[in-house]
Amino acid sequence: MSRFDLLIRGGLVFDGTGRPGREADVAADGGRLTILPPGAAADAAEVIDARGRAVAPGFIDVHTHSDGVALLRQDDRELVRAAVIQGVTTEISGNCGSGLFPALPERVDAMRADTRVTFGGDVGMYQDFTGFAEAHARVPRANHLASLVGHGTLRSGVLGPVDRPATPTELAAMCDLLDRALSQGAAGLSTGLIYTPGTYASTDEVVALAAVAARHGKPYVTHLRDEMSRVEEALEEAVEIARRSGAPLHVSHHKTAGRYAWGRTERTLPRIAELRAGGMDVTCDVYPYTAGSTALAAMLPPWANDGGLAALTRRLGSPEERDRMRRAIAEGVPGWENTVGNGGWDRISVACAPRNPQTEGRTVAELAAAAAADPLDVVAELLLSEGGEVTIISHSMIEDDVRRVLAAPYAMIGSDGVPKPGGRPHPRWAGTFPRVLGHYVRELGLLTLESAVHKMTGMAAARFGLAGRGVIRDGAHADLVVFDPDTVADGATFTDPLLPPSGVEAVVVGGSVVAREGVETGARPGTVLEL
Ligand SMILES: [Zn+2]
Repeated sequence: MSRFDLLIRGGLVFDGTGRPGREADVAADGGRLTILPPGAAADAAEVIDARGRAVAPGFIDVHTHSDGVALLRQDDRELVRAAVIQGVTTEISGNCGSGLFPALPERVDAMRADTRVTFGGDVGMYQDFTGFAEAHARVPRANHLASLVGHGTLRSGVLGPVDRPATPTELAAMCDLLDRALSQGAAGLSTGLIYTPGTYASTDEVVALAAVAARHGKPYVTHLRDEMSRVEEALEEAVEIARRSGAPLHVSHHKTAGRYAWGRTERTLPRIAELRAGGMDVTCDVYPYTAGSTALAAMLPPWANDGGLAALTRRLGSPEERDRMRRAIAEGVPGWENTVGNGGWDRISVACAPRNPQTEGRTVAELAAAAAADPLDVVAELLLSEGGEVTIISHSMIEDDVRRVLAAPYAMIGSDGVPKPGGRPHPRWAGTFPRVLGHYVRELGLLTLESAVHKMTGMAAARFGLAGRGVIRDGAHADLVVFDPDTVADGATFTDPLLPPSGVEAVVVGGSVVAREGVETGARPGTVLEL
């Protein structure tokens, strides 16, 4: 009789390819899977009874901002755990153009100060992917981490946070740093073209960088330059970048937000389908909520952030500059996604402002009314008081658009979670995967279970080059999740954003059980994946 490290008996196996579930026993040994007929004669050091349960490949969260959370010195296990107990066995960080590498050596210290603000503590800044991976390797982790190379970080790492084109020498330096990080194992190139310094970059600059990713066979992953009234133009820019560079295209957290763009997925999704039918390799990801979350400073026109935090602080202190910002928001700035102009301050609520907890959970419009002040002055004072770093939640989408994207056959699942200490972050970090399985599969029937699992596993692994992951088959990596399809549900809410999910019964990474019934076992088999 074969003896394995782990045996999962009697479950309905969804293998990650999109095939319907079938009964099988799944064994793990030396970190690899063996599929057995139901009831096969076998034994294992640990046996999980999965009768009546679904067994799936471990979920791959293709879109996180969890680059630094494991590196925080304070004990933020609650934040780190939130991904693991949902069944996420691989996180992909470095999204939206932002990460913790790479940078020229002379810029690392200045950037380290900025990342302290962005990530809520000193998580370091690294010259290359290897430095980033080594820092993570010193902190034992339950699940795996892969990372994209963020274009904004790369740009700041060469030019600094400045609003001007890159010189040919600077662009060459950016290409070299990117090439090195991709050679070392980074997963692809990401941009965040609504965020500074991404907003300062021309299409040509991004084409040159995406061509480096293309040479490595790795994707160009983009937070489009506009997800609101000009979302279709922004999509066409991404298509142009993919065509000219030859890189596969992945659109991050696809949405059409703000009242002028509601319903526009009826045009963007057919456009993507048409591109795919024409042979283009294009995919997207989506999170299952109608609210987004980002930095309050991103609500200001791009020039307000030119020069970085010190320059922003100076401008926020000037009544004339505040007037200019107010006018820019009222009138718009060509090429800038103006979230407040598309929605209004009544749709923006404060998520994390640790020195002003009384503001958390309230909209900027409410805060302004209570203070009998102009919203922009409220925003400026809040940013000044918090050293520039305030997280907001933007109630900017409609449910029909979210459902259409979720149902698109090339859309995978990414939480876009921003795990950061304090406040009331968006519940997507702790709720995304069980929410899709519970609300959108079981309650609404928007997706079949096999299709939802595929979006969380095999489809994601194929896009990001995670060989041997995202599937249940002989010899695959033993990353697994066992859940109850009848009860799986998200617990996290906007008022209590880290409440654990229910129905996720076992999470396995590399053949070791890392969580049972929402409780971590203490096993730390996770690694930084070199792709
Ligand atoms: Zn983004």
